[in-house]
Amino acid sequence: MGDEIKKAAELLLKSRFTTAFTGAGISVESGIPPFRGNDGIWGKYDPHFLEISYFMSHPRESWTVIKELFYDFFAEAKPNNAHLVMAEMEKRALLGRIITQNIDNLHQEAGSREVYEFHGNSQRLICLGCHRLYPAREISLDHLPPTCRECGGLLKPDFVFFGEGIPQKALGASYEAVSLSDVFIVIGTTGEVMPANQIPFMAKSAGSKIIEINTEPSNFTGSITDVFIRGKAGEVMQKLAAELFTASLDDDKDGINENFEVHGK
Ligand code: NAD
Repeated sequence: MGDEIKKAAELLLKSRFTTAFTGAGISVESGIPPFRGNDGIWGKYDPHFLEISYFMSHPRESWTVIKELFYDFFAEAKPNNAHLVMAEMEKRALLGRIITQNIDNLHQEAGSREVYEFHGNSQRLICLGCHRLYPAREISLDHLPPTCRECGGLLKPDFVFFGEGIPQKALGASYEAVSLSDVFIVIGTTGEVMPANQIPFMAKSAGSKIIEINTEPSNFTGSITDVFIRGKAGEVMQKLAAELFTASLDDDKDGINENFEVHGK
């Protein structure tokens, strides 16, 4: 792994603009299961609960699964080293933007600012009647489905259901990142979800180098990846940080090292 880490660090240090593209794998070490793979969510639940047409016609049934899947699981999750290193990279101008397929808000909780959510965010609920947004933590899920305090409309998690479009802001930011970037760092994604999976391919076509971090090869690995680092996102990013931040690590005892100690155990 050492050689790949060094190659990746070299590319990142030379890059004028780097974009990260993240998927469910980056949050596995925070305790959130991915959708696919051995312990994936789809092994336990039928995806039709997340189809927008099913949600509209069966909101209570859909919400019962959504609550268990996203709100019981996500509530306790904290950013891991991968999220924390990326936030620090942004502060040090080594990372320009994050495009995430995740809906768990962990990049923002880690301190990243330039985060574009391709599939929305579970920490917001939107009223389908008046479009008012609520922080999810303010809404009781004891009685399902939850409804709007203002107009009584049905509340829906503000993430993208199957059958819904991608938020324009995230699409625009992704296309812009494709044209701006010298390097794309792709972390913890199978590359199976359309249209998000097109973004790294577009970046490669536009001339970006692709660094990939995953515990398994993905759809990108054999086709567009230039540097594949096989391993858990948190562990790999910590090693990458040691390469990238060498000069300042010793002076920064109150910053990232402290976070590593807290979250790295
Ligand atoms: P996915 O579930 O299809 O695949 C997860 C990927 O992560 C796999 O390639 C797996 O090998 C890899 N992986 C597993 N553990 C890892 C680790 N510790 N470090 C690095 N890689 C690891 O995920 P996807 O491609 O993101 O697609 C699933 C869709 O489901 C996404 O669009 C996302 O919106 C949604 N989702 C989000 C969350 C979340 O917000 N945390 C969780 C599950 C699913």
